[in-house]
Amino acid sequence: MSQPPSTRFTGNPHVVRLSASLLDRRDGDCGDFAAARARPQLWPPVYEKRRYAPWETFPLGLVMDVLNAVEFEAVPVGDALARTLRDARNTVHPGVAAWVRHACHTYLETAESLAAALAAEGVELLPERNPRIVQGGRSPAEMRSLTVWGRWYGSPDGAVVEFRRMRMSRPLGTADVPSTQAMAYVAAAGKQVADPAELYTVVPVPVRPVPVPQRVRVVEVGLTTAADRVLLDTADLEEIHHAYASEVRPAAARLLAGGDPVPGHDCADCKARLSCGAVTHAPGLLGLDDRGTHRRTWSITTSRYYQVCPAQAHLRELRLPGDWETSTAVERGRNAHSWLEVAHARGRPCAAADLPEADADDLGVADGLMEREEYRRARPYLLRHLTVCPLRGPGEISEIRPEPKLAVYDAQADVMVLANPDLLRRVDGRLVYREQKTSAVPRGIVAENALELVPQLALAVCLIAEGVFGDTTGLVELEQLTPASAEVLTFDAADPAVVSAARRVVLDRVRPWHRDVAFRATPGPWCRFCPMSRWCPDRVDHPDGPDASGSTAHAAYSPDGLAFDPLTGELLASPDRPDSRVEALAAVLAEPGADDEPPF
Ligand code: SF4
Ligand code: SF4
Repeated sequence: MSQPPSTRFTGNPHVVRLSASLLDRRDGDCGDFAAARARPQLWPPVYEKRRYAPWETFPLGLVMDVLNAVEFEAVPVGDALARTLRDARNTVHPGVAAWVRHACHTYLETAESLAAALAAEGVELLPERNPRIVQGGRSPAEMRSLTVWGRWYGSPDGAVVEFRRMRMSRPLGTADVPSTQAMAYVAAAGKQVADPAELYTVVPVPVRPVPVPQRVRVVEVGLTTAADRVLLDTADLEEIHHAYASEVRPAAARLLAGGDPVPGHDCADCKARLSCGAVTHAPGLLGLDDRGTHRRTWSITTSRYYQVCPAQAHLRELRLPGDWETSTAVERGRNAHSWLEVAHARGRPCAAADLPEADADDLGVADGLMEREEYRRARPYLLRHLTVCPLRGPGEISEIRPEPKLAVYDAQADVMVLANPDLLRRVDGRLVYREQKTSAVPRGIVAENALELVPQLALAVCLIAEGVFGDTTGLVELEQLTPASAEVLTFDAADPAVVSAARRVVLDRVRPWHRDVAFRATPGPWCRFCPMSRWCPDRVDHPDGPDASGSTAHAAYSPDGLAFDPLTGELLASPDRPDSRVEALAAVLAEPGADDEPPF
């Protein structure tokens, strides 16, 4: 192929630099993004000066700097940490600094145990500053290279080579995936880069020969858990070459061919952003009058995290490993949503026959989606949904899109806005945007406060009013389900009063986040649910408070005044006064945690 499909670039598509970890892209990730990223000499047709964050955005890079100082300059780890954190080009958030300290100590302890295991075999490995690379091509204009990002070790005679991939949390890889096979291939067949600074800047990269190893190891190190996993330890280099030819090459070819564009977190940094048909452009959508510090991604989820605590939002954005809790409320919300998504994808209204008793042999739509006990817990909510199913009519229903992914670029704010409506449809030709919400008991959300308490409704109104869906009229609905009730609130996105209220809600949510460069902690009772609290020096500990595990041992009211459902662990609305911060916290608690590694 010459260029990734559905995108337009200038430059040379025949120079390819593929990082082995890019082969780990998951189903649902954007194919075009990876295809463009692997081509360093392709650029958007319109030049854009890149703006960088005024804070450190790559904690792993800081870890690498510290380890370089320890391994190549013999600087004690404490001094190396102090120097790196002090001299970092940009501000390092205190939570990031805490994780970097932990990660460096963890790595060095793991390295010691790996060295001890090899020493028992009489093998000594020394750190290698210069990474290895495989590259080839008929000319500098047609070079293909395979790189890996991590730490290299070799025996003094070059017979043993070890590549260590660093994982922010814990080892995740296996021996039989193309990324691991590619790393083994670079270790077995690669040459050493002459100057590490040229790895990403020069084509072809100047290299120097190294002895062909007799033994290759690929190891993953978990920087949070202190676990290591030897993915591969072999003297069978032929097998490594075979796996490269049979697995890695086809996987790389598929990646370079691109695929369907899938909007998401990659869009903000994607070279195809300006020409990609999957991104809608809506300058002024957020109502901000400046472009902030640099291009960023914002969603209602970002806004909720930020409302609970800016520090938590920042650490989550940097994908620091978290202590994720789960509860029956989290599980119920996730299962109800996935059931509704699958049911609506059929294009017909949900019916009682779709919801057999939880003891039935055949669970219908739920089969394969969830466990029987999970279905038992979600079913009362889904039964209530039958009376308000959006596909029931009245009116002619068309263009049904359950859970579409939307990416909308606001050039005026330089923000990529992401949204995931639960369902889009047209009723008699008019767009209707529906959000669905389950809760154990009513949360006091009514027409007068819904835009404020459920800000995704306000964003939906703004998206319609800005013409993101083609026309500037449409309806926004909130479906609220409890085991005892179903209610739909409707907002008309053509009503100037609704649009004005929605714009105010969105601007109130996005403005403080857009201006913030410090992301200060706002400790409070919510710290005990914060997955980032381990790294946060400002956290408030509540040893006697209930946790969010959904245990039936929960007190209905905790000492700090937050009220929980004793059965599900769900944070309840304030009995007398619904509150947007409590709603944000409840929504944050109801979101499953991510075990996500940053792409690089
Ligand atoms: S802009 Fe987004 S959807 Fe389009 S190619 Fe890039 S990552 Fe994919
Ligand atoms: S522990 Fe508390 S103060 Fe610290 S990031 Fe989490 S919510 Fe914020």
